[in-house]
Amino acid sequence: MGSDCDIAIVGGGPIGIWGLYHSHLRQVDARLFDSLPELGGQLMAMYPEKDIFDVAGFPRVLARELVEQLVAQSVDDHSRVRVGEKVLSLTADEGCWEIGTTQGQHRAKAVVVATGLGAFRPKTLGVAGEERFEGRGVAYFVKSLQALAKQRLVVVGGGDSAVDWVNTFSERSQVTLVHRLERFQAHPASVKRLLDSGTEVLMPWEVCALDGADRLESVTVRALDGSEERRLPCDQLLVCIGFNADLGPLKAWGLTLSGGKVEVDREMRTNQPGVFAAGDVVTYPGKQNLIAIGFAEIAIAIRSATEHAFPGVKSGLTHSSSRGF
Ligand SMILES: Cc1cc2nc3c(=O)[nH]c(=O)nc-3n(C[C@H](O)[C@H](O)[C@H](O)COP(=O)(O)OP(=O)(O)OC[C@H]3O[C@@H](n4cnc5c(N)ncnc54)[C@H](O)[C@@H]3O)c2cc1C
Repeated sequence: MGSDCDIAIVGGGPIGIWGLYHSHLRQVDARLFDSLPELGGQLMAMYPEKDIFDVAGFPRVLARELVEQLVAQSVDDHSRVRVGEKVLSLTADEGCWEIGTTQGQHRAKAVVVATGLGAFRPKTLGVAGEERFEGRGVAYFVKSLQALAKQRLVVVGGGDSAVDWVNTFSERSQVTLVHRLERFQAHPASVKRLLDSGTEVLMPWEVCALDGADRLESVTVRALDGSEERRLPCDQLLVCIGFNADLGPLKAWGLTLSGGKVEVDREMRTNQPGVFAAGDVVTYPGKQNLIAIGFAEIAIAIRSATEHAFPGVKSGLTHSSSRGF
């Protein structure tokens, strides 16, 4: 039985998208699958409005813009991209891989896994009414700076994400930070900026109640030592207390895992012949979860996958400047 494509890339985060570019560069036919309705992975789902400073060639780039540029650079043919299609199973079959998804079956000569953190879900406060107000005053990610500007904002958390958002909004909104612990877990320079800004900081305090009719109208917070309780008028509650990641179906794909990550060698090979991996999903000595590092890994993974898909054809080094795209 033949295959639908040469390489199936599972995961359309920044690394998977860049994999599509490298497939094109090597003139192999690739398909990109992502379970979410839009490409971009963590950048679009978790921090589209944050600036990124460590992608070479971009002194500063908004996460959303980086994804837009990556898509413009990598997606030559939109029929190669299958968003809203989750990969459920990978099964070896007559020298190919059978890929079972939520929409059906596909076949590829090689597979590159770039599923990042897997399915990530924000941690919730566990306060009554939280679910009811989600999208109506309760948010876990900032999708649009505009929507939160000039609002009465309560931010929960003490890590980088919470502190960065307070710093972003403190000049344009009325912000209160609520944190359960006695110290921040954020970058000291960001914490200093926050404290210098005069933003109201309540710590160690916690959110204990949410109130409103159709939308969130107020948040009740209390000091952990029980000394005080306050009701804060609030248009938007931004909960930044981390997230839970679930590898999901990948656990059953027969890949060797270590600490919840896929083990790869220097060629980005997994233990399964014909299955390669790159990006946040992989582990090896010295691995760092950075976009720039994932970009390099996927270039290697696509080369390895190409050599697997076309045995005997040494794909070697390919310069984009020689190809002209
Ligand atoms: C708040 C925050 C700030 C950050 N800032 C920086 C920074 O400044 N610089 C930097 O270099 N890095 C930064 N990072 C890290 C960076 O975002 C990650 O390293 C990067 O997103 C990894 O990309 P990825 O494509 O490997 O995985 P992800 O971005 O996690 O994408 C994986 C994709 O795979 C999809 N997927 C998962 N399972 C399946 C499945 N079974 N079927 C189909 N699709 C599936 C997911 O839906 C997702 O879209 C930051 C991360 C966070 C959370």
